Amino acid sequence: MYPKVKIDAKKLKNNINTLKTLCKERNIEITGVTKVFSGDNNIAKILVDGGLNKLADSRIENLKNLKDLKSEKWLIRPPMKTEIDELIEYADASLNSELETIEEIDKKARKEDKVHKIILMADLGDIREGYVDYEELIEVAIKVEEMKNVHLYGIGVNLTCFSFIQYSSEKLEKLVNIAEKIEKRINRKLEIISGGNSAAIDLMLRNEIPNRINNLRLGESILFGKERSKYKYLENTNKDVFILEAEIIEIKNKPSMPWGEIGVDSYGNKPEFSDIGIRKKAICALGKQDFDVETSRLIDEDIKILGASSDHFILDITDSNKKYELGDIIEIELGYFSTMRAFTSKYVKKHNQL
Ligand SMILES: *Cc1c(COP(=O)(O)O)cnc(C)c1O
Repeated sequence: MYPKVKIDAKKLKNNINTLKTLCKERNIEITGVTKVFSGDNNIAKILVDGGLNKLADSRIENLKNLKDLKSEKWLIRPPMKTEIDELIEYADASLNSELETIEEIDKKARKEDKVHKIILMADLGDIREGYVDYEELIEVAIKVEEMKNVHLYGIGVNLTCFSFIQYSSEKLEKLVNIAEKIEKRINRKLEIISGGNSAAIDLMLRNEIPNRINNLRLGESILFGKERSKYKYLENTNKDVFILEAEIIEIKNKPSMPWGEIGVDSYGNKPEFSDIGIRKKAICALGKQDFDVETSRLIDEDIKILGASSDHFILDITDSNKKYELGDIIEIELGYFSTMRAFTSKYVKKHNQL
């Protein structure tokens, strides 16, 4: 049954261990981010067994899958006002940037006799979620501290996701500075100062993350061993945890030049081709619905990717040493967005023997 995504649990465990050691040396606790694999319970369990006692996802639907796992659960996208009931049921904590939403959480949590933890987000330049007015953030923190059914857990920042602004010690010092101003006003220490995502690892390895930062929310670095800010892979990690298997449905010798009048593609661009003669082409039964070509790599490096449409993946197999036949399986190493899409595609079978 193809396409099918395979997960190498051993390689994943190794990545978790490597990251845990690196973070622990610097007194940073990891919150394991599960959104890349749609909060798949079996994979999340590997994270928990590996010693991560905090998990996070950007979707409540995914957090629902994690219900039986013994770890704290965070929603790492500010909640919608229309999903507060589920938030309180499935998440212990959430990242927030709107007082109105927090007031709603406090009200609904009171009805359930629960206390939900709040991490307030500061926007330090990426222009995604969080307060840009840090005085306002501090005033909101004081208000949250006074509410009964929410607990001010700490503050956090996220960078390198929208504007691709890099982490720096100055930016994280700013975050610590905001935290300390809050602490002075509320007369206690904040439990969490969450300094970012996998793109902060490079700064951490240079020992430039300020001491008071005690948490990172990590997805990419754990799953792919990748340090995104420098686009490099970390020592002692594996990048090939997720492999997508696709079946060949056509093999034929075809010209490299299409014939007829060329129009524009779905994005309005005119495709270009060069004539390198007749080539041996293969088509695999999967497409853009199931994975992302740009963040994928073929295990057989002698195959050239020609492109994909919604349901067809087109390859040039002329230069491969392997003699592929109809029905053979092509292995695709999945990166970040490709894994994400494979897990959200209902057409991709999920390996469930973990
Ligand atoms: C996705 C996300 C993360 C994890 O990012 P990685 O680059 O996968 O480590 C952390 N925090 C927030 C708010 C996110 O949305």
